[in-house]
Amino acid sequence: MILAEIVTVGDELLDGRVLDTNARKIALFLADRGIQVARHLSIGDREGEIARAILEAAGRCDLVITTGGLGPTEDDRTRHAVAAATGADLAFHEDVFARIEALFRARGMPVPASNRLQALFPAGAEVLENGAGSAPGFAVRLGRARVLSAPGVPSELDWMLRESIDRWIRERGLDGEAPRIERFRLSGLSESAMQDLLDGAGQRPAGLVVRDRVDAGEIDLELVLPPPRDASRWAMLDGLVKALEGEFGESIVSRDGTTLVEALVRKLVALGRTLSVAESCTGGLIGHLITEVPGASAVFVEGTVAYSNPAKVRSLGVPEELLAAHGAVSEEVVKAMARGALERTGSDFALATSGILGPGGATPGKPVGLVWTALAGREPGFGPVRAWRREFPGPRSAKKVFAAKHALDRLRRALLAARG
Ligand code: AMP
Ligand code: MG
Repeated sequence: MILAEIVTVGDELLDGRVLDTNARKIALFLADRGIQVARHLSIGDREGEIARAILEAAGRCDLVITTGGLGPTEDDRTRHAVAAATGADLAFHEDVFARIEALFRARGMPVPASNRLQALFPAGAEVLENGAGSAPGFAVRLGRARVLSAPGVPSELDWMLRESIDRWIRERGLDGEAPRIERFRLSGLSESAMQDLLDGAGQRPAGLVVRDRVDAGEIDLELVLPPPRDASRWAMLDGLVKALEGEFGESIVSRDGTTLVEALVRKLVALGRTLSVAESCTGGLIGHLITEVPGASAVFVEGTVAYSNPAKVRSLGVPEELLAAHGAVSEEVVKAMARGALERTGSDFALATSGILGPGGATPGKPVGLVWTALAGREPGFGPVRAWRREFPGPRSAKKVFAAKHALDRLRRALLAARG
């Protein structure tokens, strides 16, 4: 198996100004191609340190990928560092410079002299096309390893990973057999409950790696089976996956990474049904999450943020007596909010939220974190307005996200039985 190390270059990565998203992208890219990443390293814009990092990495693995430091300014030192590490001189590539000139001419701009730097490559390097910017990448041999350097600008790296780096890896036969990955996106299930179901689901094939990631109230679970592909381990994973599909049941949002809100919008589109939301404690977050999904306009009718009691009366028709008798955070009021939204907007479904996010505002019987959620539907057979009481932990912003996700999940579950 090919072993890789990722070296990202830039002072801005070390002092925290820029988050190292390039390393993540490259790691995902390599994992997809069956290349194992052994180490991530970030290094400042100093030639000697970059050269040493590359030399050391090349001594440990088969493939070193660097990003950053290929720009035209004096702090861009990666090409010099690679040349120093390999003991090569920098050679000027006329054809690359001609392309850079053409790029500037097309924009009606003169070519700055400093851009000549981007046509310099360690002697013997292979130039890797960059269709999204002026600085191409390059690859050299260093001992038994190969070193590939790409620019740091994320959109340029994206282009190169998709096009020239992908091609380069395939042409050199560096890609291996990718691991088999079974993914479960889960919602409305705690991590510990998920773990219990996983423990009880049966035998695991040798070498299986279980990865789980909690993403704002949803769980992304991956069962990763590394190659080689052999019948007995494969069959054992088939059995485990089948068992988990049964155990997780309605908590499964998707098997391909589709998120809760994406799955919900798709389901509503497929069913030809519409949705409105009446939000108090979630403050418009549910509407925001829904409208982040392309195609939401086909299903989302209206969102009301009725935060104050008078707004709940005026905008949703919640009876004042109900508010006086039960308080805004109550089953009665949240149901009236959902019913009001359904009637006033004409949508097929309405979700409503009302809760106490804190830190203040708790009353006897109503702790901080208490959230009531209601779901109303107009279809015959849907039944009366449903409501759920939950207490969410964490800081205010986390509670808000949990409350929004919980409401979306309630509708998703309610739609599971419906046919499109
Ligand atoms: P450079 O190629 O070093 O001139 O980087 C150009 C720009 O790309 C930097 O100013 C950063 O904003 C961004 N960048 C560089 N390296 C990374 C990285 N590892 N992750 C995310 N962004 C980066
Ligand atoms: Mg830089």
